[in-house]
Amino acid sequence: MCLVCGGRYEESRFPGLVRCKACGFVAANLDISDEELATIYGEDYFHGNEYLDYIAEEESLRLNFRNRISTLRSLVSDLADKELFEIGCAYGFFLQEVAPVVRRASGIDISADAVRSAQGERGVDAVCGDYLKFDLPRPVDIIAMWDTIEHLKRPDLFVSKAARDLRTGGILALTTGDIQSLNARLRGKKWRMIHPPTHLHYFSTATITKLLNRHGFDVIHASHPGNSRKFRSVLYYIFVLRMKRPAIYAALQKIGLFNFSITINLFDIMYIIAQRR
Ligand SMILES: [Zn+2]
Repeated sequence: MCLVCGGRYEESRFPGLVRCKACGFVAANLDISDEELATIYGEDYFHGNEYLDYIAEEESLRLNFRNRISTLRSLVSDLADKELFEIGCAYGFFLQEVAPVVRRASGIDISADAVRSAQGERGVDAVCGDYLKFDLPRPVDIIAMWDTIEHLKRPDLFVSKAARDLRTGGILALTTGDIQSLNARLRGKKWRMIHPPTHLHYFSTATITKLLNRHGFDVIHASHPGNSRKFRSVLYYIFVLRMKRPAIYAALQKIGLFNFSITINLFDIMYIIAQRR
């Protein structure tokens, strides 16, 4: 049954994915156990295929988190008085970026390895565990969920718990791929976001809005922000990771021209901010 609208799934044009007949929501056609998921998100996850090396991506991630924070700031008055909780905080980069601009920031992640590093190296307030089984000490003002909802077995349960954990008027901010974006439609089954079993759910602005509405949220912002990174890390990706030619990268690095940031925007990642009614 479709977890956005309760409709029925049918085959989709993507192999391995099903689509809701009623609302068009796309999901991976597989039944994965909690044990299998725990294995996927073990120690290797952030160093594996999904994130070539999450720590090496740190600089880009931080640039993007700063952009997301400025969007939040433009929509949330008195950000400095707000308490924020992050679901899927990984190594704690976002918590570290946001901590100075809010009253209090904490988070949770399923990956023990990532949380150890978040607590130890970044000194942020993070716990390891399953959000669905976690009791927040008190309601919060903002819940952030960056590139996380697509990984969840039951995004509907996360959204309904977030609604309970937020104060009235509280904010749920999230990013995820947009399967209705032009790039996703052009790329079809080759769209880079399609990879079950890590990505289990594929939203569009319409289906995420429907899910949020159903659980007591109104969408107050929807955008497709670009992905900023240092030109250096683009070259690193091309020459070192893809072409395996570190010598070229080293030579280019000597020229020292590329310590500037560029923004690549395929307009297929959506940034949704919703307010609890
Ligand atoms: Zn549906």
